[in-house]
Amino acid sequence: MDGVRTSPEIGFGLQAFTRPPGAPPLPRIARGEGIWLIDTDGNRYLDASSGPVASNLGHGHPRILAAMEAQARQAVFAYPSQFESAANLEFAERLGRLAGPGLDRAFIVSGGSEAVESAIKFARQYAVATGEASRWKVIGRQPGYHGNTLGALAVSGDDHAHEVFGPLLRAVPRVPAPLSYRLPANHTVESHARACAAALEEAILREGPETVLAFIMEPVGGLATGALVAPDSYYEAVRQICTRHGVKLIFDEVMSGAGRTGRFLAADHWPAARPDIVVVAKGLSAGYAPLGATLVSAEMVRVLAESGGFMHGFTYNAHVMSCAVGAAVLREIEEADLVGNAARMGKLLRQRLEALATRSPIIGNVRGKGLLMAVELVADRQTQQMIPLEKVAPERVKQLALRRGLALYCRRTSRGAYGDWLMLSPPLTITAEEIDILADRLGAVLDDYASELRSEGVI
Ligand code: PMP
Repeated sequence: MDGVRTSPEIGFGLQAFTRPPGAPPLPRIARGEGIWLIDTDGNRYLDASSGPVASNLGHGHPRILAAMEAQARQAVFAYPSQFESAANLEFAERLGRLAGPGLDRAFIVSGGSEAVESAIKFARQYAVATGEASRWKVIGRQPGYHGNTLGALAVSGDDHAHEVFGPLLRAVPRVPAPLSYRLPANHTVESHARACAAALEEAILREGPETVLAFIMEPVGGLATGALVAPDSYYEAVRQICTRHGVKLIFDEVMSGAGRTGRFLAADHWPAARPDIVVVAKGLSAGYAPLGATLVSAEMVRVLAESGGFMHGFTYNAHVMSCAVGAAVLREIEEADLVGNAARMGKLLRQRLEALATRSPIIGNVRGKGLLMAVELVADRQTQQMIPLEKVAPERVKQLALRRGLALYCRRTSRGAYGDWLMLSPPLTITAEEIDILADRLGAVLDDYASELRSEGVI
């Protein structure tokens, strides 16, 4: 198949569904080695965003491949209501220990959206089981992203998706996310975050607290906000508000979990704001198999079990192969201290990005935590003016980056209403030398783009 070129129009996969007609062909993957992806023409790309912030251990990791092979020789699939598996038990035990008290039971699924759906349904069934059947509304943030299945989309803050799919979704309230750049007039980051927390409480009171089931948020944002981090006080405020009104606090850590921000969970940065439910995926299997999990307390599971059990499930719950991968990934995260490495390399990456921002005319803001970073692109740093929408800056930068051997994850979200950014989130295995290569290449790409914009009179 290597030599075969199907045009995107007749391609079999996602390409034909999502890329505009006439879009340039994508490089065809041949293999991966560490933080590098190599195409069938032999070009090497540094995986600067870990695919969609998933490949946390890089590619071709020998210990993960060995675990996959060993598991495949034993059993790949055994339905969890019929058989226990050592892979499932080891994975759940490790995950529970790393996530810590109150989040030490895992409902294991195949990805982020399924884990979000499971979190919402778990919270709802728990409310019913504890005599609070009036609670069903899940408040989300605008902007925010929690997945593409209908329930997850309903709680996501994406106006465009809601315009198209709205009739299929149960409308739920959304409150503003505490942006840290391009703030509303007369606000500081702190005062805006306070206003956003107050908006949550107002929404709960407006809806009637007895009807509100949960509040869902990304503790460190992903693509929807470009690695948004709020002031510490915001996390504590939303925790207190949720507790005051009996609302479950759900952290969506599909991107930020599994060590990416320099703690095993991003929630661990704010111990005073411990969530009731956490959703993890992506880095949990480092992309080696489809895997996600909904983390809750042993006590909540006991209550549900006594009420007849969780009314929910999928064919691929706790898939044996995926659990074996997850167990091997968690083993590697601990033994190679990848959480510590994410914290250390995250600092270096931030320094290098901030240095780039002082000399590149099109970097407006650098933000994030650990190895979950983003740079926001602007036409004018002083006025924070965005690059004109018709330039579709993220797509263009992605193309330019491929020419310089850099694979970037970026896409315009919310039709560019909040700005344009690039995710810088390399594998947690990255070294200091590789951070330098990443930053040098990114600098060259942004220089290329700035020249292009200059020649077009945009900047
Ligand atoms: N939540 C967040 C914060 C995400 O970043 C994503 C994926 N980008 C999802 C949920 C959905 O995960 P999946 O694509 O695995 O269904």
